[in-house]
Amino acid sequence: MELYNRYSRKELIQKLMDEPFERTTISFYRYVRLADPQDFRNLLFLDWSSQNCFGRIYVAREGINAQMSVPTHHLQSFLDKLQQYVELKDMPIKFAVEDNGKSFYKLTIKVRPKIVADGLDDQAFDTTDVGRHLTAAEFHRLVDQPDVLVVDMRNHYESEIGHFKGAICPQADTFREEIEMVADQLSDVKDRKILLYCTGGVRCEKASSYLRHHGFKDVNQLHGGIIEYARQIKQLKLESKFIGKNFVFDERLGESINGEVIAHCHQCGNACDTHVNCANNLCHLLFIQCSECARRYEGCCGDECRDALHVSAEDRQLLVQTFQRKFGNRKAFRKGINQKLSFIKPEHE
Ligand SMILES: [Zn+2]
Ligand SMILES: [Zn+2]
Repeated sequence: MELYNRYSRKELIQKLMDEPFERTTISFYRYVRLADPQDFRNLLFLDWSSQNCFGRIYVAREGINAQMSVPTHHLQSFLDKLQQYVELKDMPIKFAVEDNGKSFYKLTIKVRPKIVADGLDDQAFDTTDVGRHLTAAEFHRLVDQPDVLVVDMRNHYESEIGHFKGAICPQADTFREEIEMVADQLSDVKDRKILLYCTGGVRCEKASSYLRHHGFKDVNQLHGGIIEYARQIKQLKLESKFIGKNFVFDERLGESINGEVIAHCHQCGNACDTHVNCANNLCHLLFIQCSECARRYEGCCGDECRDALHVSAEDRQLLVQTFQRKFGNRKAFRKGINQKLSFIKPEHE
């Protein structure tokens, strides 16, 4: 048994497509003290790869944050086995809303300083003093009341394709920027009731304690995030107050919550909420592109990148430098989604 993957991306995707069984996409996180994250990581990797699980998992001294796909016929035994880790016992598991099981094509478990790259100095505030957790139904009741402030704690490219009606959606590129913008812009209304939400709830744990530390009196957060909200609302047969798509950090890039398309193609402006990465690997920009523009630009973010697909090998060497000067290494930053979208088509911004 090996501790790391050894196939190419192409081979792995092909293997995934050829699988004769279904997969279930799940996610979970927990803030829990792990004495030896590397050791724990290796333990999980051996266990989960033997069960043929895929996913992206971060392990840190402060806990675990996992997005995974589990072969559906192994799901029950996977969940049972999870119970045997003291650190992971009784952890709430969230199931994906729109799930074709093709969310991941390999298992990656990384040891990181933190389970969410939030850029915050945790020593500066009490991270255990978090806001009140609201169930989907509680959140649903409060979300459109006039005295309540609803704040989307995700980045701009996430809230662009879907958000709660009337929510404040800061134009932030990173969580750190987001959290500071929110604390600053709401500094005059620290007594108001604030409702925070994010994808699966993990970012709100940090955000709520940060806001409480900065004197906000009534901080509440959606427990389990949009994923759990969507699931419970469906079960309760309530109309979703979240409109559009929930951005997810896997191969699917998004799952539709109420079927509405609220975003626009960054190239032609037509209604569209499909995120793609620019087909020019030197660029790799994450942006919204309709199928018509995908054809026209061959999956690229503009003429420059499309032309780059067709240059000779020598010219490509020159282009590598040009693009690196212009964009830096986008791939190093989680598919480049931290980059601003503003240079694509300024007229649509
Ligand atoms: Zn378009
Ligand atoms: Zn591009």
